[in-house]
Amino acid sequence: SHELRTPLASIQGYTETLLDGALHDQEHNVRFLTIIQQNAARLGRLVADLMILSRAELKTQKFRFASYPVAHLLGDAIDTMRPVAEKKEIQLHLERPAAGAEVFCDSEATHQILANLLDNAIKYTREGGSVTVSYVAEPSAVRFLIRDTGIGIPQHELPRLFERFYRVDKARSRELGGTGLGLAIVKHLVRAQGGDVAVESEIGAGSTFSFTLPVHDLGLAETPRV
Ligand code: ADP
Repeated sequence: SHELRTPLASIQGYTETLLDGALHDQEHNVRFLTIIQQNAARLGRLVADLMILSRAELKTQKFRFASYPVAHLLGDAIDTMRPVAEKKEIQLHLERPAAGAEVFCDSEATHQILANLLDNAIKYTREGGSVTVSYVAEPSAVRFLIRDTGIGIPQHELPRLFERFYRVDKARSRELGGTGLGLAIVKHLVRAQGGDVAVESEIGAGSTFSFTLPVHDLGLAETPRV
């Protein structure tokens, strides 16, 4: 509730200040409105992320499982994120191993997972860096890898990284528009589809986030829903 209250208190505070007379203060009114706008946007992102997480946790989310070519899933996600990468002058590469790999998953949920991991990789990599997406076949799954040349994460932070609202650097995450929920969403969506998540990182050198999705139907669509 603290995460929601902070932007809300800011919106209420600055709205009151404007109504109490600051509206006519030409030196400050635009700045106050900008703060209101930023906090409203932040609140919007938080609510959207909390909705995704709550649907995943309550198992009320309807997954539509089917077989999808890995190349299509990755192509869609990369097309979506390319403008974000270009804006920051980050090279976005797709390493294509043997063609023809398929996974049994929900395409929307997989898109969300890839978008969150690519968004983070771009966010936590400095201008001029690179982000590389690849995949490898495992016995009954495909492992997707998102590798960046970014700031890296200290080893002792890695075990808690996928917890809700856990951030290595709270101020930096906030400044970059983060909600602290992206990785918690990733973990839930991957697990719900029968996969697992992993991360390796080295400070100053970069991070590699990976997740698996099954190749065959694991019968997960049959799970009872609340
Ligand atoms: P946020 O909205 O803060 O990015 P996430 O749940 O997506 O929240 O990530 C949690 C934290 O993990 C981030 O605040 C950041 O400290 C760290 N993190 C995630 N991805 C990366 C990455 N690719 N490189 C470095 N740090 C990362």
